[in-house]
This record gives sequence, C-alpha cells and structure tokens, in this order.
Amino acid sequence: MAAADALGAPGEPRRRTVRSGGVPLAVYEQGDPTRPTVLLVHGYPDTHRVWDDVAAALAAEHHVVRYDVRGAGDSGRPARRRDYRLELLAGDLFAVAGAVSPDRPVHVVAHDWGSIQSWEAVAHPDAAGRIASYTSISGPCLDHVGHWIRHRLARPTPRHVAQLLGQLAHSWYIAAFHLPVLAPAAWRRGLADRWGTVLRLAEAVTPRPGHPQPTLAGDAVRGINLYRANMLPRLLRPRARPTTVPVQLIGLTRDHYVSPALAEGLERWVPHLWRRTVPATHWSALLEKGTTVARMVEEFVARPEGRTAPAAGRSPKDRKPFAGRLAVVTGAGSGIGRATALAFAEQGADVALCDLDPEAAERTAELARLLGASARAWRVDVSDGTAVDTFAADVTAEFRVPDIVVNNAGIGHSGTFLETTEQEWRRVLDVNLWGVIHGCRAFGSLMAERGEGGHIVNLASAAAYLPSKLLAAYATSKAAVFMLSDCLRAEMAGFGVGVSAICPGIVNTNITRTTTFSGLDAAQEAARQKRVSGMYARRNFPPEKVADEILRAVTGDRAVVPVTFEAKAARLIGRLSPGLLRTAARFDIG
Ligand code: NAD
Repeated sequence: MAAADALGAPGEPRRRTVRSGGVPLAVYEQGDPTRPTVLLVHGYPDTHRVWDDVAAALAAEHHVVRYDVRGAGDSGRPARRRDYRLELLAGDLFAVAGAVSPDRPVHVVAHDWGSIQSWEAVAHPDAAGRIASYTSISGPCLDHVGHWIRHRLARPTPRHVAQLLGQLAHSWYIAAFHLPVLAPAAWRRGLADRWGTVLRLAEAVTPRPGHPQPTLAGDAVRGINLYRANMLPRLLRPRARPTTVPVQLIGLTRDHYVSPALAEGLERWVPHLWRRTVPATHWSALLEKGTTVARMVEEFVARPEGRTAPAAGRSPKDRKPFAGRLAVVTGAGSGIGRATALAFAEQGADVALCDLDPEAAERTAELARLLGASARAWRVDVSDGTAVDTFAADVTAEFRVPDIVVNNAGIGHSGTFLETTEQEWRRVLDVNLWGVIHGCRAFGSLMAERGEGGHIVNLASAAAYLPSKLLAAYATSKAAVFMLSDCLRAEMAGFGVGVSAICPGIVNTNITRTTTFSGLDAAQEAARQKRVSGMYARRNFPPEKVADEILRAVTGDRAVVPVTFEAKAARLIGRLSPGLLRTAARFDIG
C-alpha cells in the first residue's frame, strides 16, 4: 500500500489523508464515487486491511471507503489516553464521511471497536443527516451495555444472572487490559508475533497478506487506550443513547467476546433494527465470510425506501421467536406437516409449503395466514428431484432462501421383506428416502451458499431404530433418513446449518388411512387400515406435540429427537439391550 497520498493503480484503493482535530487519518477509497458510499470502520487490533474481502465484494456497486482509526496502521498516533475518547473517535468518523461524501449521508459498517466507536456517531444528535444506515458487527454501544447491566442488576432473575455471568466470562480480557504493564508487555513480548497462530487456533482464520499487519505490536499497545479511556466511564455512567438511524445488527454465532444476550432489548434504543446472523467467529466473519457480510450490507443499503424493520412497533417481549424467518415444510397438507407449519406461523415465521395434495396444502397456507404469516403452497411430489429443485427455486424467488426446512412428507407401508414387491419397495424409498434426499440437496445447497446458517429437520421415525418384520421397507427408509441426517449434520456444521432427525412413535394422523399393506386385496387392506387407525386414535398422541418438539429441535439444535413414550423407550432399550428389540421384531405387532 502506498504510504504517500496518491491515486493508486487501477483496482487498488486510492489513498488520501483526512485531518480530524489535528490527527492525520489514512483513508482508502475504492469504486465509483457517484455510487452510494459505504464507510468501513475496523476494530482492535486491526487496520483497514481487515476489510479487504468485504471491500472487494462491495466495490463493484459502491463507493467503498476505509480508514485506519487513530493509533493504528498509517494514521496519526496520539500518545495520551484521553486522545482515544469516544467523542474524538466519532469526530474522526464524521470528518472522513464529510471529506469523502460531502453531499450525501454514508452507510457505515463497523466491527469490534470500530463498531463501538461508530455507535457513538450513530447515536449523535446530528447523525440522521450524515449516516444513512449502520451495520454493526460484534461491538455494542457502551452506554447501551451500561443500561443492560443496570437492568439486570436491578432485576436479578436466574436468567439475568446467567446472562451477566455469561458476558463476564466473554469479557475477561477487558479486565486484563486495565492492568498496568501486563497487557502492553504481552503484546511487545511475543503476542504480536504469535497473533496469526492465535487467530488460526481460536478463530478459524488463516493469516493473509495485510492481516495481521506489520504495525500490529504498536497498534495493539496504543489501542489499549481505547479500553482505558472509555470502558469504565461509559459502563458506570451510561447515557441515554437512542438513534433514528436504521441499524442492521449482524450477530455471530461463535463470537468469543460478545454474547448474543447483549443485544437483547436493543429495540428500546433503536426502533429501526434489523437482526441478521452469520455462523462465524469474531474474526472469521470478516476474514473468511467477507462475501456473506458484503451481501448483507448490499441488501441493507438497497432495501426499499420506507421498509420497516421486522421488529418495528413491537416491544421485545412481543417479538415472536421465529419472527423474520422462513420455514419450508413438505407434506404440509396433513398431520405432522400441517401442525408444524402452523406452529412456525404462530411463532412468527413465514411458511412455504408443499404437498402432493394441493388443496390440502393451500388450506394449511390459509390457516397460517390467519395466524399472521406470509404463506404460499405449491403442489410438489417430493419423490421427483426435478420438481423439488423447481420448488426450491420458486420459494427463493417468491420469498428468499429459507432458514428452516422440514422434510416431512412420507407414506406408511406395512409388509414383511418377502411379501414386499419391488414396486412397493421403490415407492416407499422414493418418497420416504429420496424425498428427503431431494429436499436436503435442493435447499441445503442454497443455505450453504447463502452462508447465514439455518436448520434442516428430517422426519425419520422410531422405526429407524426399532426393527419389525412387518415394516421392512418403511423401517429401512426411516433408518436411512436417520443416518443421512447424522452424516449431513457433520457436513453442514461448517456452514452453520443444524440437522435434526425426528423420531416419532405412534401419532394420530391420516397416515394410517393411506398406509398400504403388502399381500392384501383392496377390501382386506381397507379393513386393516381401519383397525390400525383405531389403534392410533386410541393412543391419541396429537401431531401438534410433534410440531412443538420440532420447534424445540431447531431452537436447541438437537441431533436426534425421539417423540412419544414408546419412541423414547425403544431408543433406550435399543442401547441397553439391542437383542431384546431384535427378538420383539419377530412378533406380528402392527
Ligand atoms: P399424513 O399422512 O397425515 O401426512 C403426510 C402428508 O404428506 C400428506 O399430506 C401427504 O399428501 C403428503 N405426501 C405424501 N406423499 C407425498 C409426496 N410424494 N410428495 C409430497 N407430499 C406427499 O402423515 P403424518 O403422520 O403426518 O406423517 C408425516 C411424516 O411423519 C412422515 O414422514 C411419516 O413417515 C412420519 N412419521 C409419522 C408417524 C405417525 O405415527 N403418524 C410416526 C413416525 C413418523
């Protein structure tokens, strides 16, 4: 990077200097200055280079500006602690914004301490005309945190105490930074040299040119002033800091420093708040998932004028757990599928539904709309891979990439191995196994590509681990779904997508009325369906309870969820004494 002010080579950032209160700030610009300006503010102990990937992805459509904050990189290096106060840092941001975009407000995007100092500017009374939007990543407003702590100390419920302790455990290094000598000595005596290794081991980040930067040791030592000049004053005497600037808060699922609880209740200060999630650590969000962050910024900058935040007008208490999320449910026209679609709708999600029976699916969509959800239904045969691919494309076009996919569609079949015809085998495997495979492929690849995580739920069955000579094809299909879910879970973990296998026992749905039986004529089959339906009705376990478990599996990212007493008992016995289950499998039960 050129040290002097100069116009860089084509494609390289153009370097200029902006003065703020006598401190020279090294500013780097990319992209067309007539496009909307995005101003990137880095954290501690970084420089503008931490944004390389994000800036490159944004530069095609935006005027991208970064700067080294005071004390870091090529910017001026004030020596006194008081020169690092938040008011001065906010002044730097306004100075750079005014110099690079004098006529139009800028879109600020900030990380870590960059985010903390940008909050100071965003909550400034003059911010509305100068900052068009703010994307905050892993750096809260210290005043908001001060109020957050006070509120929890004043009402020390077990949940509040757990949140306080949780954040305290994330903040050990802040105390260390207040100790004299220790922190500067650690940076000077080797930590700076080993910072790349620390990031690789703790943050899943690969060092690259420009990060960590050659000036790290000095930057890190001076940056300790950020903590010492601001933390205690703001946390102990927090000011009221509301803002009307629209804010996009990007939460990181594996952040070692900022716990998600810290953002609870933020709507109190920020009425126009959008919440997004990236499955990433504190640094991998920028260094490994830069294109995902850039896409979120792009979407936020380009959001239609006047679009209100999902949480607008609702108090945090009223916000539903799945608000703003999209759930896809297959086989949503009946039983567990319908109950699951409605449970997600009731908890605030939008739902995209499909079934072989389009009227039944449309009825579920109508009921979901009555609960306040956006809902659409499609006719899809899940055993047809092309149809499922088209469904996934339609859902994405109509709504967006889903956050949750429930591969629920399935059929019942009863018959011993020797009785079951090849055609029956194919039908059961096509729907129960291939239907799940098609759903996982079509939607899983979209979720992985989007990079915002999510959850896939596959309906297996207690039959997956409970052998029965009468359920040869059905149990085989469900055992395959069970194992598929575990394999997929291992693979999708890298994308922040959870996978759950749900294993219900006997649930009172329509499945028994459509279950086919090998070796029986139509009259015998109808009689058997009636008998089994009666048995399921007497057991009377409602599909709504399975739906509740499915929502819990998503929230808690549970791998295997047996539902009903018999499903739990069979799983336990299968582990303690598999031979017992094998013996029981010989009897004509069902
Ligand atoms: P259900 O018959 O009430 O509902 C299944 C829905 O899937 C129906 O609306 C049906 O039209 C649809 N469907 C069937 N084949 C399809 C296809 N090829 N493409 C698209 N949609 C199709 O059954 P349910 O009990 O709600 O079953 C849901 C899932 O739960 C199934 O996978 C089933 O195997 C599993 N399960 C059910 C029970 C139970 O006791 N009911 C127990 C364990 C597992």
